[in-house]
Amino acid sequence: MATSARDPYEVLGVPRDADETQIKKAFRRLARELHPDVNRHDPDAEEKFKEAAEAYEILNDSERRALYDRYGHDGLRSGGYAPNFEGFGSISDLFDAFFGGFGGGMGGRAAGPAQGRDIAVGAEITLAEAATGTSVELSFEAVDACEVCHGNGAKPGTPIVTCERCGGAGVLQAVTRSPFGQVMRQMACDVCGGDGRVPSEPCERCDGRGREVRRRTLRVDVPPGIGDGQRIRLSGRGHAGERGGPPGDLYVLVRIAADERFLRDGDDLVTVLDVPAPLAMIGATLTAPALDGQVEVDIPPGTQPGEVFVVRGEGMPRLRRSGRRGDLRVVVNVVVPRRLTREQRKQAEKLADSLTADNVRTDESLVGKLKRLIGAS
Ligand SMILES: [Zn+2]
Ligand SMILES: [Zn+2]
Repeated sequence: MATSARDPYEVLGVPRDADETQIKKAFRRLARELHPDVNRHDPDAEEKFKEAAEAYEILNDSERRALYDRYGHDGLRSGGYAPNFEGFGSISDLFDAFFGGFGGGMGGRAAGPAQGRDIAVGAEITLAEAATGTSVELSFEAVDACEVCHGNGAKPGTPIVTCERCGGAGVLQAVTRSPFGQVMRQMACDVCGGDGRVPSEPCERCDGRGREVRRRTLRVDVPPGIGDGQRIRLSGRGHAGERGGPPGDLYVLVRIAADERFLRDGDDLVTVLDVPAPLAMIGATLTAPALDGQVEVDIPPGTQPGEVFVVRGEGMPRLRRSGRRGDLRVVVNVVVPRRLTREQRKQAEKLADSLTADNVRTDESLVGKLKRLIGAS
C-alpha cells in the first residue's frame, strides 16, 4: 500500500512537542469529523481517516514517534513499521478498531479496566425543527455489557481465576526491534486484556469478552436554535467500558437540511421576495415567507432591486437564550415582466414617454449601487 508521505504532525494538526493527551484529542476530533455515519457525502473521508489513523499510530507510540522524528517515514519503514489498514473491510471496521473497542486491535492499551469508546451518530433535521427544537430517534450499534454474564465474561455459575499467561499481572514484556537495538516494553496481556483474571469457563454468548454489540435506540432532545454541524454530547452514553470501566460518550452531530425558502446567517434568516416592477414603483404591502407561515412586508414606492427590509424577531431562536430571536432579512428582487399584452405595452410606452430625468434621478453613488446589487454590506 502507499505510505502517506504527509507529516503526521501536520495531518493531526498538532505541534511537534505535543503530548499524548493533545495527540489523542486531535485524533479523536478528526475521527469524529470523518466518521462514516456522519460523512457519507464526502468521498474523500475514508482516505482522510486512514491518513489520520496512520498519523496517530505513529505519534501515539513513543518508539515510532522517536524514529519518525529522527529519520522520517524512511526510518519507520526500515524499522519494520508499515501501516496496514487494508485488511479492514470498510472504514466502519477501521473506525471500530479505534473506537468500537473489541478489546485490543491497534495501538495497545494500558492495563486495567479501560473506558468505553465514544460514539458519533449523525441526525438530520429540518430548519423548522431547528427553530422549534425537536427530538430525534437515533438507532445505532453500540458495545454493551453482555446480557448473560453482565460483563465479567464468565459462564454464569463458574469461577473467575488468575490469568496463567501473565500470572495475574495483566501486562506482558514485549521485545521489539528498532535501529537502536532491542527495546523492552510493556503491553496489556492478550489473554486477560490487562485484567489479570480470566473466567475459567467463558460465557458462551460473548465468548468471554463480557461485551457484545447491540442496536440501541435513543430519543435525543435537540434544543431550539441549534446550528448545522453542532454537536450534542451525551455523557456516558457511548460504548460500554471493559470489565467495569466507565462508558464513553455519545456525540450527536446535527445536520440541518437545506430549506428552499431561507438561507441562514447565524440567527438571522434571509429570503428573497419577488416584486413586480410596477409595484416597486408605486409601493405595496406583500407577504414574504416566514418560519411560522408568512409575514407582511411594506414595500415603499420607489423600492430598488436588492433593497433589504428587516423584519425584527422573525429569525431563528438564539440557542439557550429563551425568547430571543434573530431577524428575517427580506431581499427585494424586482421582477421586470417578460411578456406584455398589446394593451400593457401601450401603457408602458406611455409611461416611458412621460418620464423625465427627475423621475429616475438618484443620489446613490456607484459604490452604493453596487453594494445594494451584489448584497455586500
Ligand atoms: Zn457474556
Ligand atoms: Zn493475563
